[in-house]
Amino acid sequence: MSEIKAIVSDFGGVLTSPLIGSFMRIQAAWDLPLESLGKAMQTVTERDGANPLFELECGRLTEHEFLERLGHALREDLGRDVPMHEFSEEMWRALEPNHEVFELLSALRDDGYRMALLTNNVREWEHRWRGMFPIDELFEVVVDSAFVGMRKPDPRIYELTVERIGLPAGACLFIDDMEINITAARDLGMRAVHFRDNAQAIADIHAALGRAATPR
Ligand SMILES: [Mg+2]
Repeated sequence: MSEIKAIVSDFGGVLTSPLIGSFMRIQAAWDLPLESLGKAMQTVTERDGANPLFELECGRLTEHEFLERLGHALREDLGRDVPMHEFSEEMWRALEPNHEVFELLSALRDDGYRMALLTNNVREWEHRWRGMFPIDELFEVVVDSAFVGMRKPDPRIYELTVERIGLPAGACLFIDDMEINITAARDLGMRAVHFRDNAQAIADIHAALGRAATPR
């Protein structure tokens, strides 16, 4: 296997606390039955012929359009209004920066590894996630699905990322919390670490790089 020269990291759920916390927060705040958000997403998918979250993440729906459609489906299902205008704020209020992973990536950058961020994200949320960390100081390449019109696990977005780094896929280690994204990366010949929690992921990253974990 070729030597790993670059790290390609996900943002949500890797550099932040798990996203499930945000959905739980919204469900609790709006007193929603557990399946409501998923069901509303399904309703909009059937109505529009496209998954609204995927459309949002590819920049084909604005945040406003997404929330309007989701809110409409929720209202139909629940028979009452839901404060969709609070959705993004609630969602982000529950997300904490994962400093331990950021510090690890910073240390690896200082050791000479090239750094890229590959995120499925939302145009209107750019200030929110960029406000969590000095993103451009750590990552020389940032690929945001909402600005390139494709999203993980589409192989083309990984190809675009490695092309921008200027290295073959086999020289890149990809880190993500979603298995489907990991599988796509491996299919392209990238090395990959499936993030589940900090201790596991940090140990797996060190192992993939052939480094002894530095005592903290
Ligand atoms: Mg993620």
